[in-house]
Amino acid sequence: MSEKLIKSLAGTRDILPWQWEKWHALHDAARRQFSIYGYGELATPIIEEAALFIKGTGESTEIVEKQMYTIDAAGEEDSGNAISLRPEGTPPAVRAYLESDLHKKQKFQKFWYSGPMFRREKPQKGRLRQFHQIGVEAIGGDSPLLDAETILLADAIYRDAGLKGYRTCINNIGCEECRPRYRENLRTYLRDRSDELCPDCVRRLDRNVLRILDCKNAPCKETVADMPSITGLLCNGCKDHYRTLKTVLDAQGLDYQEDPHLVRGLDYYTQTVYEIKHEELGARDTICGGGRYDGLVAQMGGPELSCVGFAMGVEATLIAMEAETEPDEATSLNPDVYVVCFDEPARIKCFEQLTMLRGAGLSADMDYEGRSAKAQMRSADRTGADFCMLIGGLEIENCEVTLKDMRSGQQWKAAWDKGADAILDALA
Ligand code: ATP
Ligand code: MG
Repeated sequence: MSEKLIKSLAGTRDILPWQWEKWHALHDAARRQFSIYGYGELATPIIEEAALFIKGTGESTEIVEKQMYTIDAAGEEDSGNAISLRPEGTPPAVRAYLESDLHKKQKFQKFWYSGPMFRREKPQKGRLRQFHQIGVEAIGGDSPLLDAETILLADAIYRDAGLKGYRTCINNIGCEECRPRYRENLRTYLRDRSDELCPDCVRRLDRNVLRILDCKNAPCKETVADMPSITGLLCNGCKDHYRTLKTVLDAQGLDYQEDPHLVRGLDYYTQTVYEIKHEELGARDTICGGGRYDGLVAQMGGPELSCVGFAMGVEATLIAMEAETEPDEATSLNPDVYVVCFDEPARIKCFEQLTMLRGAGLSADMDYEGRSAKAQMRSADRTGADFCMLIGGLEIENCEVTLKDMRSGQQWKAAWDKGADAILDALA
């Protein structure tokens, strides 16, 4: 053992067998709600042309500027272009939609996806370099009812998963008609205070001024806190859209807050934006972010189509779920039966019984380390087995097995080929 261990990369993690319970609870809840809300599953590759994100996510976003894992595939026969690990799911979903010609067949489509995303961020609480998102994209609809549907869907998933202490924030950031005016106001206001901004935000003044509202640095947050909001500058179309959304959410009894300074980290959002936050996460407290992206499809070479979607951070959500529940004991596998070998020559016969039990649909296991009968009984206890099947020379001679109910301690015998039936009867 003198070799140095190779460790996992910063910002990546393993999920060990006993850590899956909440993961599945969240994904199962999401799946149930996607089916109830009529969203179809979409899977896209983890690698795509870098250009997809440069165009889609936006050249001036942090993600594209600093966080993409890209390899230069110049000269490779298959593509010759740079290839990136996907940092987010929306541009691939739009690409898949356009590439399969859905806009010509059935324009309106609702998709969901889940899987790993990659961003070279500074690893911190809830922020990883390989993380996972569960997201939806509703493509081809401009009704504020659709915005409401996605917000209610995210809420339904969290409720279904048993999460409680979250809050939903919404805003309307305007459209191409009214936003330029706001951008100008923002620039004028912030230029005078540029000495209060972090270097990143100073650069953003020209490139991407709205992002300053999304800066996580405390001094920048303070500077923008009493800035004029966009709400008063919205055009009539955006005002109406926002009003209808709120009316619908009110009618559904959804508890939300308006946050006139809420913007998202991605360039393509228009009109409605929203975030679901949970205090357990600290400074970066968003567990789900979404909104409307009416310009993206055309920008990616497709027709003019309005869309709305969200992405949930799986790890961020799990931190919130774990904080709300008592830490449990590591969950064990709880097999129905543990097969215990009493005499060494019986071991192969034990394996035969194990296979018969599994063939009958029972979860079953045995020892593979050649340990004593006593140690095997301890393993049976530790794994939480309901029954033990004891096999030694005597059992083999009599062509039978001894069964033991681990809770009552009661023991009985069954014929060699009736062991599985006996357990099934006892379980029923
Ligand atoms: P945020 O504003 O929260 O930083 P974002 O605008 O950069 O997110 P989105 O794709 O909209 O990017 O993120 C949706 C959610 O996915 C985030 O709120 C967060 O919960 C999760 N997420 C994003 N980046 C990471 C990451 N590096 N590690 C873990 N989770 C992440
Ligand atoms: Mg953001």
